[in-house]
Amino acid sequence: MASVEVIAVGTELLLGQLQDTNTAFVARHLADAGIDVYGMHAVGDNRARIAEAIRASLARADGVVTTGGLGPTVDDLTKEAVCDALELDTELNLPALEQMRAFFAAIGREMRENNVKQAELPRGSRVLTNPHGTAPGFVAFGRDGKFVACMPGVPREMKPMLEGLLIPFLRERYAVREAIYTRVIHTINLGESEIDHRIADLFRSQENPKIAVLAHEGQCDVKIMAKAPSREDAAVAIAPLEAEIAARLSGHVYGIDATTVEEAIHAMLRARGWHAASAESCTGGRIAAALTRTPGASQTYLGGIVAYDNAVKTQQLGVLKRTLASFGAVSEETALEMAAGALGRLGADIAVATTGVAGPDGGSPQKPVGLVWFALAEAGGRAKAWKFDFRGDREAIQRRATTMALGSMWKFLRE
Ligand code: ATP
Repeated sequence: MASVEVIAVGTELLLGQLQDTNTAFVARHLADAGIDVYGMHAVGDNRARIAEAIRASLARADGVVTTGGLGPTVDDLTKEAVCDALELDTELNLPALEQMRAFFAAIGREMRENNVKQAELPRGSRVLTNPHGTAPGFVAFGRDGKFVACMPGVPREMKPMLEGLLIPFLRERYAVREAIYTRVIHTINLGESEIDHRIADLFRSQENPKIAVLAHEGQCDVKIMAKAPSREDAAVAIAPLEAEIAARLSGHVYGIDATTVEEAIHAMLRARGWHAASAESCTGGRIAAALTRTPGASQTYLGGIVAYDNAVKTQQLGVLKRTLASFGAVSEETALEMAAGALGRLGADIAVATTGVAGPDGGSPQKPVGLVWFALAEAGGRAKAWKFDFRGDREAIQRRATTMALGSMWKFLRE
């Protein structure tokens, strides 16, 4: 079994100006490929400190994977630091030079002297070609057989290099037979603690496949991870557990793996030949934004009205002035009239509405910050309204209310 540590290189990372998304990506893919990740580090564009970080990591693991600092500019020092750490000099790497020539030819630009320098790699390195940029990646080797794999920092260049070249190379070199295969069950409108309660016994009894629950903004994912020699073997191990979990969370599972709740909604609308509309106050168009994220949404989503001011609620959605005066904008009655207005004005088959107090101001003892009224209505059919008290700041309340509206829409369509 191979073990590695991951090092992200770049002063911007240490200044907090750039968020390090590379390390998480690299770690996840290495772990999924059956390669243990023992540590993660970030280091600035400083030759001595990069070399020191590499040496320290190599003392603990079989190899190091770095991202960043491979470019042609003076602050790109990763290659030099690798040479220092492994006590190697550089040599012109012909496959790397060839790849760079091909890259420049493809983009119709002339190759300069400082680009040629990029093809000089630590002696004995294996090149990792980079069809998306100039800087080739490489794997350098120490006398003890340990390795340092270096990839560019630009995510678009790094990701295919990792998945297509580095991981297959490492799996072969360390004869890694097993990988981790994951299946994700997406649930909505079911709290993390409730999920935990329903599947706690499976949690405890399972070693392989393993189960994890990940909560984010009103949605909860249950991940089933199987370590197996092939995807087929993993599928066999996962299937009975997935069926059991789905049964216990029944009524809340909207999709598997990459499916989003919006996609699940559109699929159900398509199956019925229906069109949806939205009327939003406190969510400010977030429901519309979510529903239009899915390609092909125009076949099932007509549009929405962001009715923030009461005048817009009356003029655009037909909410009665009397309703607003008697019950207020944040009320069951207003939510229902907003949904009915969206149905009628937009000619939809189903409409969703939100009206609430997103804060931080505007709350009262009767209607505190975080109170949101929702309504769902179906043309010539069912209509329902309900309220929920959300916690958090304005942004969190808006996001959570959006998730709840989408989850309820999905459930309404299922029933
Ligand atoms: P290239 O020569 O292709 O530019 P490089 O290895 O020199 O690659 P850097 O100069 O270190 O890459 O970074 C280039 C850009 O890549 C950064 O400005 C940033 O946008 C992105 N990047 C670098 N490191 C990371 C990281 N750890 N996470 C996310 N993005 C990163």
